[in-house]
Amino acid sequence: MARPLTQIKEHFISTVISPLAKSGAGARHQTVQPTQPVPRLPNWLKSSGFIGLHLAVLAVLFLPNFGVSLTTLALCGFTYFIRMFGITGVYHRYFAHRSYKTSRVMQFLLACLGASALQKGPLWWASHHREHHRYSDTPDDPHSPHITSFWWSHVGWILSPEHVDTPWEAIRDWSLYPELRWLDRNHWIPGTLLAVVCFLVAGWAGLVWGFVISTVLVYHGTFSINSLSHLVGTRRYATDDESRNNLFLALITLGEGWHNNHHHYQSSANQGFFWWEIDISFAVIRLLSLVGLVWDIRKPGSKALVHRLEKPAHKTDLEAVAAAAQAPENEPAAPRA
Ligand SMILES: [Zn+2]
Ligand SMILES: [Zn+2]
Repeated sequence: MARPLTQIKEHFISTVISPLAKSGAGARHQTVQPTQPVPRLPNWLKSSGFIGLHLAVLAVLFLPNFGVSLTTLALCGFTYFIRMFGITGVYHRYFAHRSYKTSRVMQFLLACLGASALQKGPLWWASHHREHHRYSDTPDDPHSPHITSFWWSHVGWILSPEHVDTPWEAIRDWSLYPELRWLDRNHWIPGTLLAVVCFLVAGWAGLVWGFVISTVLVYHGTFSINSLSHLVGTRRYATDDESRNNLFLALITLGEGWHNNHHHYQSSANQGFFWWEIDISFAVIRLLSLVGLVWDIRKPGSKALVHRLEKPAHKTDLEAVAAAAQAPENEPAAPRA
């Protein structure tokens, strides 16, 4: 039974998904070939919660007036915003890249916020993301749309049994904290508590809009960075991968859409490098620093901002903006994660 299914998937990828992935601007490096074996089918049983949440969205059809009210929509927007920050500002910029510092208590609270998005624990998330940077758009990248397919980079790799375990060698620093290891094992607890709160606030409609729909929206906003931001958008920096800058993705992910900037300078807390690159997660980090909850925020220096540009002709303009912004002088080169 497994063999025909595998053949069906190979056919689907080769005829439908791969052409879609290659049709974007990401087809720049045509030398990249899918040398990795076609990934196995999703682990349906372990993924049942993830799939069940998607199916639970249909519950909205059975609610009076589809459950729509000012309260439920505000609840959905609020839980989307705080949890998207939990992923981008905490799991990504703090745990994967250590782009700012905080206290141990705050670190755990922020980790719980990230876990409430139900994208597994901070150690699992950050370790896989470090692997992404280490092997970007090569066969060892967990989710490159150029090596596998759009579908695989967006959601397939998460459902795969190949990525169930945490690559501990990539996350030795944070695995020293027992409370983070505990949260990694019990990553479902903050999300479940949030579901209970949503139900208490607005009943079934609150649960569906504030938890189910919001969670699925945060999923696909986050996943779009793994898939679309390596396919669609512009490239300011000549990084060794296919990362792109994309305003739309930056808006729905609170700043993660400046992905080419991020691959250029990975340890930066801001991914929008200039005033016109909206980066809401960085604004929140700045806010937290103003009240003393986080500190030592890392930013690229003015030299890094104009280093390795795709179009050197723009260098003078960017230098002027960087100087006007008085960007602090950190390391001129882009440190790796
Ligand atoms: Zn990337
Ligand atoms: Zn990153």
